[in-house]
Amino acid sequence: MRSNLRCLAVLVVVLSCSALLWAADFDTLFTGRTLRLDYFHSGNADEEHISIDELRLEDNWPGSRTRLLDDSNLGKYLFVVVDLQTQLPIYEDFVTPGSEPWEKNITALSDPARLKWRDLVDPATPIPTPWNQNAYDKVAYAFQKKRQELRAARASEEEMDRYFAEVKKITAPMLAQETYAEEVGAFEGAGYQAKGLYRSSTDCIMFTRNPDHFCPVCASAIEEVIDLYAD
Ligand SMILES: [Zn+2]
Repeated sequence: MRSNLRCLAVLVVVLSCSALLWAADFDTLFTGRTLRLDYFHSGNADEEHISIDELRLEDNWPGSRTRLLDDSNLGKYLFVVVDLQTQLPIYEDFVTPGSEPWEKNITALSDPARLKWRDLVDPATPIPTPWNQNAYDKVAYAFQKKRQELRAARASEEEMDRYFAEVKKITAPMLAQETYAEEVGAFEGAGYQAKGLYRSSTDCIMFTRNPDHFCPVCASAIEEVIDLYAD
């Protein structure tokens, strides 16, 4: 199946001259105006394509003028502007289709030794981290069914929220009783997938939509992004 996604507002600064300093200062490299690039990101399970839709010259650059290279590693796609003469990157930005800033906090766990949040895992915590997924899934499935019935009966958003709060009263304590509930690990079940994707905490927001707090890995990723833009 083919799907098209039009990503808006990928903002690129305009080159003014080919100064050669890596991470040189903004005024040397750029005019200060914004060149906007819209593109299509399309594909299926086997392949993906990125093609340019249009380029447009816009107003003043609204982004950082001091932080031009993005070393956050937060995202699957990196947009890079390269200086033609020096072949060095002068601007970088991680692009995440669908605006999912926390992609960092779920993983396919293909190589446990290279787990993205490894530095936050206690060496005593096994990876993947065991938890009572079957028991939880049974409960979650029953709730999911009831939720669909409510939707089908055109329940109001308030009703849906109330029901979700009731569900949380049962599932949150279940997760809190897990052996590794207080630990950062790699727990199977994330990003709406029961299998194959792993989250960093039993009650990570990427899994439970926990409204109260972020797990340590989410919190650290959010701080990293805030620092990146606030610096
Ligand atoms: Zn989390």
